[in-house]
Amino acid sequence: MKSVWLMYHDVYREEPLQGIPRSASMYHVSEKIFKQHLSVIIASGRKVITITEFLKGNFEDSVVLTFDDGWRGSFEIAMPLLQKFGLKATFFITKDFVGRKGFCDRENILRAVSAGMEIGLHGTTHRMLASCSREEILWEFYTCKQFLESLLGQKIDSASLPGGDLNRIIIACAKEAGLKSLCASRPGINKIGTSLFNLKRVAIRESTSASEVQRYCNYNINKELIRWALFQVPYLLMGKKNYAYLRRWLLGERRGEGDILFKP
Ligand SMILES: [Zn+2]
Repeated sequence: MKSVWLMYHDVYREEPLQGIPRSASMYHVSEKIFKQHLSVIIASGRKVITITEFLKGNFEDSVVLTFDDGWRGSFEIAMPLLQKFGLKATFFITKDFVGRKGFCDRENILRAVSAGMEIGLHGTTHRMLASCSREEILWEFYTCKQFLESLLGQKIDSASLPGGDLNRIIIACAKEAGLKSLCASRPGINKIGTSLFNLKRVAIRESTSASEVQRYCNYNINKELIRWALFQVPYLLMGKKNYAYLRRWLLGERRGEGDILFKP
């Protein structure tokens, strides 16, 4: 059994949201592109399953669709398309983004659950957890978890990590907070035996073509694995903070740009 998990963020109709840092908006896709992605996923014949189904041990070759941060377009543009094709996805919510411009509100989350979508948590403030203390990591998990559980009246036990940060302390804190699974942002194919606290996902960018998604559905992600490995070199050499500055500079981002809407 193989399962490729796709990591989406926002889906927009005409123009991407303005005022978003490039490091975030490069992961936002248009409705037109998203429709093309869904067409090749459906044509691939792979079953689209939910995280819950995967955790229960659905042994078919499959695709899992996820959306990070709680962008409004993922609920209001992507979700109706998913429903049209009878597909389910998981939406990972950052508590402090709920109700902000460009992000979902409580109603969006409630409607998603009524439509059979799954909800997971994506931190309280969207801080990168690797630079947090143990207490801060626990607070990030607990506060978002409690917010979603009291809103939905159901247990929330899956999470994805802001910036994909993952280490042994984060995993220990996730388990202590009662989580059953953790999604990273590292590319890979999930299968029997994959750690449920290091589930791999392939990031979808604005430039991701339908043929690339088709390739992902065939479980060929060699290009993404090489790309990921190459990006680890400056990251490891420079340290996370300096790497983030370099990346912002390479992307032509000014310091503080888009901070009002989205603080990565
Ligand atoms: Zn995020």
